[in-house]
Amino acid sequence: LMNLTRKLIEIRSMLLSIDQSDALKLPSIVVIGSQSSGKSSVLEAIVGHEFLPKGNNMVTRRPIELTLVHTFSTDGKTPVEYGEFPALGLGKITDFSVIQRTLTDLNLAVPASEAVSPEPIDLRIYSPNVPDLTLIDLPGYIQLASLDQPDSLKEKIAALCDKYIREPNIVLAVCAADVDLANSPALRASRKVDPLGLRTIGVITKMDLVPAEQGAGILAGNRYPLHLGYVGVVTKSAKRSKKDSTALTVQKGEHEYFGAHSDVFGSSTSLMVGTDTLRRRLMEVLESSMASSLHGITNAVQLELEEATYQFKVQYNDRRITAESYVAETMDALKLRFKEFTQQFRRPVIREKLKGMLDDKVMDVLEQLYWLDKRAPELGNIAADPRLKPEDIEPYWRHKLEAASSLLTKSGVGRDSTLLVADGLRALIDSIASGEPFTFHPRASERLIQFSHMILRDRIGVASDQVENCIKPYKYEIEVEDREWEQGRERAIDLFEKEVVMCETKLKDIRKKVGGSRRLGGLVNYVKSLEEKEREKKAKRLEGGPSDESPESPEPTPESYRYPPAQVLDARHAILYTDRLNILRLRLTALRSKRCRAGPQSDVFCPEAFLNVVADKLAYTSAMFISIELLDQFFYQFPREIDSRLLYDLDRNEIVEFARENPVVRRHLDLQDRKDKLEEVMKQLNSLSTLRADPQPAPRRH
Ligand code: GDP
Repeated sequence: LMNLTRKLIEIRSMLLSIDQSDALKLPSIVVIGSQSSGKSSVLEAIVGHEFLPKGNNMVTRRPIELTLVHTFSTDGKTPVEYGEFPALGLGKITDFSVIQRTLTDLNLAVPASEAVSPEPIDLRIYSPNVPDLTLIDLPGYIQLASLDQPDSLKEKIAALCDKYIREPNIVLAVCAADVDLANSPALRASRKVDPLGLRTIGVITKMDLVPAEQGAGILAGNRYPLHLGYVGVVTKSAKRSKKDSTALTVQKGEHEYFGAHSDVFGSSTSLMVGTDTLRRRLMEVLESSMASSLHGITNAVQLELEEATYQFKVQYNDRRITAESYVAETMDALKLRFKEFTQQFRRPVIREKLKGMLDDKVMDVLEQLYWLDKRAPELGNIAADPRLKPEDIEPYWRHKLEAASSLLTKSGVGRDSTLLVADGLRALIDSIASGEPFTFHPRASERLIQFSHMILRDRIGVASDQVENCIKPYKYEIEVEDREWEQGRERAIDLFEKEVVMCETKLKDIRKKVGGSRRLGGLVNYVKSLEEKEREKKAKRLEGGPSDESPESPEPTPESYRYPPAQVLDARHAILYTDRLNILRLRLTALRSKRCRAGPQSDVFCPEAFLNVVADKLAYTSAMFISIELLDQFFYQFPREIDSRLLYDLDRNEIVEFARENPVVRRHLDLQDRKDKLEEVMKQLNSLSTLRADPQPAPRRH
């Protein structure tokens, strides 16, 4: 039978780890009593060591789940007696004063405002001197809360105790001999849930404080009969000093006391006295209670197991996962996803993107150097009229072309193109890091972003310098072949046509917005006349002539009110687009002219074609070196960083934590874990069936 309790205690802690529902509970002994009733002394006498927190202030603030495991000292290597806090991972603690300090700390960690916490402390004590028992120590009942304790404390403690003294637990009601049993809060609480006293044991402490006959009267239990009886103890002799309160002296004191009163408590009587008797009694009671719970718990576990097995089949088709497999799959998926995305960064794609950026630059250069030039029409004329002699105007425009080419090649292409591609990579990583399943893993997502940005930061400088170096020759000389020229010319035409369409669309939008072309025409004329006036005024001021209006506060002319300011702005835009359209159309004609088609020798008159060729050469070279210096490096390093910074960096706990961040995985793991544990418990319960004992509670000792 010894074996049975021991096994069932193990099973009990497994069941506790499965869930806290009452259905899956094996009995434990719950120790209740009012403050100073001697509750701690009783527990310490059972364990044989002082280990519970002491102090005037209420120190038991959390339930202590105390599991005693009887050990058989054999090899002499492992410590004979030690305690363990499984939740804290402190290892075997052989010094019981360390256990005491740890318990005190754990209790004091409960904020004073809460005073008690229902969160139990798990403590196991291994010793050859303890029986196999599970005991739960609860905060002592108090009469009145002291000034620094919340008013609700009394109710809070009572509620916590009520939760624990429910079936199937056994109640150990601790009462002091010198206090009337009628006033014992422990007995009162127990009677509420166990009116017949079937699962309550009374412990009468401080037997030495009342006359022996009176003590014996209490133990006889005639006033408040308990089926499991009362045990009388002396756990602390009133004479002894606090210092030598070891188990031995406690026992000695107790022996002395009961020995001295053997006439009253002699072995011939039916009274139970002494800590040894209490220990034995608790073992018997727990054993028989466990034994009688066995059948019920086996059925309950069976039902739960069937349900869990069914759910596991239905929800997951019996597919098993582990936190490790989830982490590995997630990382593989991440790499795969990344690899798919890298298709967007193949060299032709990059070249196309860079070309787009350079085309914009070319447009800017053209606008700056050509379109605003008063001599611009010359270029159109010469392209259109083959009879005109180029030599007359060439030097001026040769100079312009060189300036334009230089503006383009020295515009920081290395930096701009590298940053453009790096931004693309960053956006790609950000999109991966903010998508599933990283929505569940904010820390991993942050790390992913961090290390990819770090790789980029490391490479950007090198790559941009490298590109800048390789386009250096173009800053001095650019040779254009016929074929390149023709392609450049066609691409320029293409671009301009697109630009024309864009301007036309904008104009159309403005027209629609202001209410038709007529109205827009009126607006434009109005704005132009305003500008004309402005110019005149400015000219006058520059001449130093007297002005009839002060410039700071111009008299509002009635005209100023003719159009709302937003429409005036629209008109200004319309003027800009119209001007641009005119130029674009002129230049398109030029680009299509015979002179431009003739070849690279016409570069001076067809700067658009020439600059397009330059932009293309720059894009080609940049794409090549960005691929080598930035992309290849990044694509090589990224999957390796995933391994070293996301995967291998995690210890076992972090892997579990990571997997459980995903609610889908967490549910899966939880159910699987529950099923596994239930299976294990079931296996153990089945192996016990041979040991199954008499399901009746142990009879009272005679
Ligand atoms: P708890 O508050 O219920 O845990 O009670 P304690 O175990 O701390 O004991 C309260 C007080 O009663 C302490 O001062 C103990 O020394 C004293 N005490 C405990 N057991 C006995 C006993 O058997 N005899 C006497 N005379 N005093 C005891």
